[in-house]
Amino acid sequence: MRKIFFFLIMILLVSCSPEPEVLETPVPPTATATRIPNTPTSTPTPTATPLPSTSISATVWENDPFAVVLAYHQFAENHSPASSSVKMRFEDFGNQLQALFDSGYSLVSLEDWMKGNIVIPEGRRPLIFSMDDLFFRNQILLDDNGDIDPNTGIGMHWEFYQEHPDFGFSWALFTNLGDKFYPVGDDPNWREVLAEAIVWCLEHGAMVYNHTYQHPDFRISTPKYIQYQLEENDIFLRELLGIAGREDLIHDLKNIIGLPFGERPDEYAGLQTLLDYTTPEGVPVQGIMEIDYIFRVKYLPPMYHEEYDAMAMPRVSTNLAAVDWLVENTAEFEQAQVCDLGEVPDIYLDDVEYLAEHISFTYTQNDCPTGVYVVRNYLFSVSENLVELITSWQE
Ligand SMILES: [Zn+2]
Repeated sequence: MRKIFFFLIMILLVSCSPEPEVLETPVPPTATATRIPNTPTSTPTPTATPLPSTSISATVWENDPFAVVLAYHQFAENHSPASSSVKMRFEDFGNQLQALFDSGYSLVSLEDWMKGNIVIPEGRRPLIFSMDDLFFRNQILLDDNGDIDPNTGIGMHWEFYQEHPDFGFSWALFTNLGDKFYPVGDDPNWREVLAEAIVWCLEHGAMVYNHTYQHPDFRISTPKYIQYQLEENDIFLRELLGIAGREDLIHDLKNIIGLPFGERPDEYAGLQTLLDYTTPEGVPVQGIMEIDYIFRVKYLPPMYHEEYDAMAMPRVSTNLAAVDWLVENTAEFEQAQVCDLGEVPDIYLDDVEYLAEHISFTYTQNDCPTGVYVVRNYLFSVSENLVELITSWQE
C-alpha cells in the first residue's frame, strides 16, 4: 500500500513537470560531497512551453568497479621463440587483444579512471592499458604519411580498435627518453621522428608519462639523481614537442610516474624527493604506478574508494599468463550498466543539484539499480534515500 502511494506521488510529481527554482547564479559543482536528500524541494508548477532539453543517461556501477592495469613493455617478431613480460610477440599480442575483447573487457584510460570518469559500453568490464620503457620502434612507428604502422604494438591495437570500437583505445605510456635513440641511432633526424610519434600518441589518447630519463634503480639512487632523472625526462619531452611545433600539447601533460622496476627509493630523503617532484610547469605528482606479476594480482580501486591510493597504483606486468588469467576470471570484474534518465532542460545540464534531484526521481521509475552513477562530468552515489555527488571533473 505504502509502495503504491509512493508510486502515485512520483507519477503526480513527474506529470506536473516540476520546474526547479532558478538560482540567481549558477553554483559550480564542488569536488567535496554534497548531500542531497531524495525529497523534492521545489513546488511543481505547470510550464506553458517546454524548455529546450537533452536526453541523458548514466553509466551505472551497481557494485564498485575495480580494474587491472596491464603493463606491456616491448614487442617482438613472430619468429622469436617465446613471449615474456618484457617482449610480447606480435602474434600473441593480436591474440590477447581478441581474447580480452571477446571476454567482454573494454578500456578506460588511466586519467579517466583517476578522475572518476569510468565509462565503457553497457555490459562490458573495465580494463586499463599501460606500456613502459618507450619509445622503441616495435612499440610505435609512423610511415611517411604520418599514419601508424600496424606492425607495431600500438599500431596493432589501433588497427584492432578500428574494427572493434567498443574495445576502446587508450594507453598510459611510461617513457624513458634518455636511454636510447629512436627509431635508429644513425638517423640525424631521430629527434624529429620521435617528436612526430609522440604527437600522434597525445592526439590519439595514448598519454605520455614519466618513467625517468634513463631507468635507474631508485632503491640505490641519491635524492639528487632521482630529481635529475625525473626532471630531465620531462624537459626532453617538452623539447621534443617544441621541435614538432606543438608546445600547445604541453598544457595537457600530467605528472604521473611509473617507478622503474617498480621500486621506490630505500631512503626517506629519496622518497620525499619523489613525492615532492613537480613538472617544469609546477604540476605536483598526481600518481605513482607500481608493478607486479599476475600471481600477486592487485586491483586498482575506483578513486572514491577507501583503498584507492594515487601514490601507489598497482599494475600487472603483462605476459601470456596475465591475459589468460583475465580471460578466466571475468567474473571478478563488474559489468557496466546504463540507466536512461530521460530529458533534462539544457539550462540544468550542469546544475549538480538539479541533476541529483532528477536522478532521485527517475532511477527507480526506470528500473535502474542503486550504485555509482556517471552522468556527464559528475559522479554520483545513488542509494535508496540519498543521491550524493562524489566528484566532478572538467572535460
Ligand atoms: Zn621500465
